[in-house]
Amino acid sequence: MSDTALGLYIHWPFCARICPYCDFNVYRARGNDGALFEALVADLDYWAAQWPGRTLASIHFGGGTPSLMTGRQIGQLIDRAQTGFGFDPGIEIGLEANPNDAGRLADFAAAGINRLSLGVQSFHDDALRALGRDHDGASSQAALDAALSAFGNVSIDLIYAREGQTENDWAAELSSVLATGLAHLSLYQLTIEPGTAFAKRAERGELTPPGDALGERLYRLTQELCREAGLPAYEISNHARPGAESRHNRLYWQGADWIGIGPGGHGRIGSAATGGRLSTETALRPADYIRRVAETGTGSKAETLSALDEARERILMGLRIESGLDLEQLKHTTGQTVEAEELRRYTDQGWLTMSGTRLCLTDEGRLLADGIAAALCP
Ligand code: SF4
Repeated sequence: MSDTALGLYIHWPFCARICPYCDFNVYRARGNDGALFEALVADLDYWAAQWPGRTLASIHFGGGTPSLMTGRQIGQLIDRAQTGFGFDPGIEIGLEANPNDAGRLADFAAAGINRLSLGVQSFHDDALRALGRDHDGASSQAALDAALSAFGNVSIDLIYAREGQTENDWAAELSSVLATGLAHLSLYQLTIEPGTAFAKRAERGELTPPGDALGERLYRLTQELCREAGLPAYEISNHARPGAESRHNRLYWQGADWIGIGPGGHGRIGSAATGGRLSTETALRPADYIRRVAETGTGSKAETLSALDEARERILMGLRIESGLDLEQLKHTTGQTVEAEELRRYTDQGWLTMSGTRLCLTDEGRLLADGIAAALCP
């Protein structure tokens, strides 16, 4: 029996409107989602039967827009998970919510959700219009007020480095959010992802996001303001007061175990040291997922990662967090280690530092996180 923490991710792929910058596995909500809900229940039961005796440290409802589900549906999935797996003491049960669903937040709290992540993105009407969001600044604020009265643990997402946004604009916007006293913020730079509506607009010259230099200055400003306010980054895009970090997301970055159900959900269980790390992936399209669950009992297909691929994943994920990557644990779980020459080179350049057995990016290194992590992979 593994003593690694286990999380459950539940993907609800429907959204009321598809945002022009989004490249997630999402589909326009059409109100005919009962079959998907039933498939989620069956898939959850399947995984509970695979791992008897393993209890859940966290559940996360992500999407898409899982706040389009009813409180009753969410409550049924939580109850089913408790019956099938059992819960660790203090389990985190999180839900991503759209501000337009603020009227259902109390239902979600009653259903067992104890952490709410609100997709505010901005409190400014013009910014929300430019992002193609289907809510305005007033509804962002109303949803935040409703969230704070229904939940003790609230985070909001904001998008910065938007077209035309200056350092002064962002400093004012972020400072006013920090003044609310929220304990957790997810702050994402707008990126233009291939295949999105924004990518097409950028190709046509109709959209010009800030260049790299301004993007870097906005990132540094973000770190500075959040640190001063007592919410340092514990991951590249996530800031929290000590103790308010998302436990579920930490599972991914620390290479723990998780099960992913719902269209496009993926999971990881075990390690090379325990016979191989299982990698699971579900069908992307809701209809395919539902069919696969009906035919096989689960929406997932599974394969075992090689120790090398497992090590690469652990390096890429582990370096994202402020507490860094435990090199001894990497060696123990996969038999692999990072590229020694690159490690020396980046340490000499001041981009990496060791803290005991943990390898961490410095503030400067975080600006180049993906490239450094890729170069360190064996
Ligand atoms: S609401 Fe979120 S998941 Fe849905 S399209 Fe917009 S950004 Fe993507």
